[in-house]
Amino acid sequence: MTGNGATTSGELRAHNRVRLLRAVHDGGATRTRSQLTRDLDLARGTASVLVGGLTEDRLLHEEPAPEHGRGRPTMIPGPHPHGPVVLAADVREDSWELAACELGGRVTVLAVRPHDGTPEGAFLPLGAAIATHGARYGDRVVGVGVAVAGPVRPDGRVDVSHLRWRAIDVPALLSQGASTSRDLPSDNPAGLPAHQGPAAHGSPGPSDRPAHANLATTDPGPADQRAPGLSGDPTDRPARAEHPGSAECGGMRASGLRFPRQNARDPADRPAHATENPVAADRGGVGAAGFGLAGQAGGDPLSVFGEMIVPGVRVGNDTALAGLAEARRGRLRGVGIGLHLHVDFDLGGVLVVGGRPLGGASGAGAEFGHMALGGPGAGEPALCMCGARGCWGMDVGANALLRHLGLEYGGGRGRGQAEEILARAEDGDEGAGEAVLAVVGALGRGIAALVNAHDPEVVTLSGLGADLLDRAGAELRAAGEPWLMTIRRESPPPIVASALRWRGSLLGAMEAVFDAFLTPAGLASWTGSDTPGNKV
Ligand SMILES: [Zn+2]
Repeated sequence: MTGNGATTSGELRAHNRVRLLRAVHDGGATRTRSQLTRDLDLARGTASVLVGGLTEDRLLHEEPAPEHGRGRPTMIPGPHPHGPVVLAADVREDSWELAACELGGRVTVLAVRPHDGTPEGAFLPLGAAIATHGARYGDRVVGVGVAVAGPVRPDGRVDVSHLRWRAIDVPALLSQGASTSRDLPSDNPAGLPAHQGPAAHGSPGPSDRPAHANLATTDPGPADQRAPGLSGDPTDRPARAEHPGSAECGGMRASGLRFPRQNARDPADRPAHATENPVAADRGGVGAAGFGLAGQAGGDPLSVFGEMIVPGVRVGNDTALAGLAEARRGRLRGVGIGLHLHVDFDLGGVLVVGGRPLGGASGAGAEFGHMALGGPGAGEPALCMCGARGCWGMDVGANALLRHLGLEYGGGRGRGQAEEILARAEDGDEGAGEAVLAVVGALGRGIAALVNAHDPEVVTLSGLGADLLDRAGAELRAAGEPWLMTIRRESPPPIVASALRWRGSLLGAMEAVFDAFLTPAGLASWTGSDTPGNKV
């Protein structure tokens, strides 16, 4: 075998296990075994042995295809009911969402909660929720991905200028919040999940149940969907801070059930803090070493996520992660060079090259919203809260909509009002219509500048950007045209709505964690084998 670095039969098996799981995951667990066998150019016997081994290791489970003819049913490999789970969170300026994600991309929303705009108000409850649900899933959790609406430094500290967050130590706050979770066993004070090797294969305990089955019976309203983000499901929308608590989907506390960890961790094995060596702190879970091997699995997540500080927890920029998800499951799939823009209260943007968002030298890229792409105005351009002047993001997003109507804005407040402005504009309200046109004009002008610079094949808009495109797509394209170079005007790249809409950041957080897991080293950590491939 050439091109994959595998030299021994064990390494080759490990390589093929990764390929097969990757194909199942990327295909949304919809492809049949025979399709996968053909796509991966495997011998039927080899595929059979691989599937058997992966099933035994709780990594795959086959179900008959819904429709088949006479004879043996066609089997579809998908997630094992006791298999790996990634906890993914999307932290917006006014709320956060936490979900459990299985191989293949099925998402079960665990909690949606508004926050007060302070770092403590956002991350302490999230840390507690991660600990609670992590304990419930037990050794199934292979990592936690957290998307945040701001640049992420390599050590996991985050700046969100609109909220006046400066160098917020997100891993430390999550860890602090986790320590307050009252539902954890007393010998697991920190409770952040880390995979502990194979456990209880034959006797699944309560924490080992399929996530969706649990939620279907104990929670009031989780959103569970096989095709992530593709529906117009209302749960796809961010929670409004104006109705605190209304979107909480309950969990262990709501159900009154307890799900003890099968493998209670040593109390000394609590999450490390930022001052400790991240590699030394990485016991169990998806190791930092796993990331070094992730390139073969479709992209190096280091370009999206900072280094792992708390074991199993990674923090990344929401726009970069939305771009990653769009490349895996959305409109940037198979696209060589794409421009992805994520609009919420302001906007972020990133270039996605060969399926990988360009995260910058330190991982703090994806900040196209802080380029001085604003229109010509009198006097010195306004100062952005990021410290730069004339930032494009000041003119695009919910904040700009509110500002145009003379309403109070900023601080992660006003999501509901911005949605009302969009609706009123559609109903013919003149003031609202002008506000939308002003925002769309600024968006189109900036897109034109980026198209001039980067020559992308396609431009994708997620979040509020997709809503703006739905309502004023023609105006958006017209606004950009005068700002395009002549050579670009002949066939400008299409500007399209994200297939994932508001779900991109959450799904990107999932993808980046699975990228680290779907490696020979990641799978070895799951099976408890020392050498990748020695267990097939
Ligand atoms: Zn700025």
